[in-house]
Amino acid sequence: MSPVTTSASESPSPVEAHRAAVSPDSNLQRCPLMPNYRPPAVQFVRGEGPYLWDSHGDVYLDFLSGLAVTSLGHSHPAVAAALAEQSQRLLHVSNLYATEHNAVVASTLDRLVGDGEPADGQVFFCNSGAEANEAAIKLARRHGGHGRHVVVCAFQSFHGRTLATLAATGQPQKWEAFQPLPEGFRHVVWNDLDELERSLDDTVAAVFLEPVQGEGGVNPATIEYFQGVERLCRERGILFMVDEVQTGLARTGRWFGFQHFDVSPDVVTVAKALGNGVPIGACWAKADVAASFSPGDHATTFGGQPLATAAARAVLSTMEAIGAPKRAQETGAAISEALVKLPAVVGCRGLGLLLAVELDGVDAGLVAAECLKNGLVINAVTPTALRLAPPLTIEESHVAEAVNKLAGCIEAVMARSEES
Ligand SMILES: *Cc1c(COP(=O)(O)O)cnc(C)c1O
Repeated sequence: MSPVTTSASESPSPVEAHRAAVSPDSNLQRCPLMPNYRPPAVQFVRGEGPYLWDSHGDVYLDFLSGLAVTSLGHSHPAVAAALAEQSQRLLHVSNLYATEHNAVVASTLDRLVGDGEPADGQVFFCNSGAEANEAAIKLARRHGGHGRHVVVCAFQSFHGRTLATLAATGQPQKWEAFQPLPEGFRHVVWNDLDELERSLDDTVAAVFLEPVQGEGGVNPATIEYFQGVERLCRERGILFMVDEVQTGLARTGRWFGFQHFDVSPDVVTVAKALGNGVPIGACWAKADVAASFSPGDHATTFGGQPLATAAARAVLSTMEAIGAPKRAQETGAAISEALVKLPAVVGCRGLGLLLAVELDGVDAGLVAAECLKNGLVINAVTPTALRLAPPLTIEESHVAEAVNKLAGCIEAVMARSEES
């Protein structure tokens, strides 16, 4: 790849400008973007299937899918066609009126939550994962009633960046700068049923967990834990809510991650993969729980608007047509088998195509950066683990290409650290 250069005649690209903003010795003008993101190393301009092209024309194999979002690959023709068609017909009218796709998408989601059978639930549409979780938290409080508002979450969880979802997120270092956070969240050790039981009292409205902690390092729940949580919630009339924003929609090899554990949660949130890149989130709840909301209790201007729901409709019908869960399960098994044979890899965890490889003696961040330089997009989910979340549509040849590149990059980083 050619290095990024800035000529005097051209204005700096957003990438250069952004980098300059956090680089004190640069004399470029201030970056127009806020410095809440790290300076990006590349600017992508096009994507097709599992491949991306940057502004220099270099090609990359995308094994991150924009953080488990583009599960059908980039520029999927069915999604592109649905967007093009809808954009010429109707974009937005508000939730004061009905539109064409949202009931269809809601019924499909309900059937997928029921793993093929209607699950007797109802859906609220919004625009992101955090908003889906905000809806779940408000629903839990409405359902619990006054004095019963606490939501129990796990340490190392991730539920979003709004104030309430940040308070739900079990990563205290992320709370520090933003105190005071909303009250009513309690955190327990992940996969420890005894501790969870001790945290339950009559102020608790809901337990809220990810089936696989995604941002927390790709840590799957155990079946005993999820089944135990469900039992405790049932015994005490507490809602069992699952955050499927990252795990939902075939990513783990089932339609939803909770289906691996044979439980039936009261509330399920989804977002990332639902629009294959178009912003849309959804909060599903059993109808008797959803009934706690009355008109006016919760709303959004954009949520469920026709463009986003047209995309979601195309995504869900494509996923069903290609048997996406089975593909994720089979490809995930093949890729894990290859990954554990790589140098420095001491373990591979996750479900389906949401995977992390644990490295020993080599920095995951350096390996991810080396991969990017060599045309493979993955990320370091912890300082010692790489996350892989490729499109569910990848073929054997893509697996081989990614595994070869990753092997080379791990070796290169190891060789360099031995030299120094
Ligand atoms: C990404 C993520 C969120 C937040 O979604 P946004 O769309 O970024 O608001 C919430 N929960 C989980 C499990 C996630 O992975």
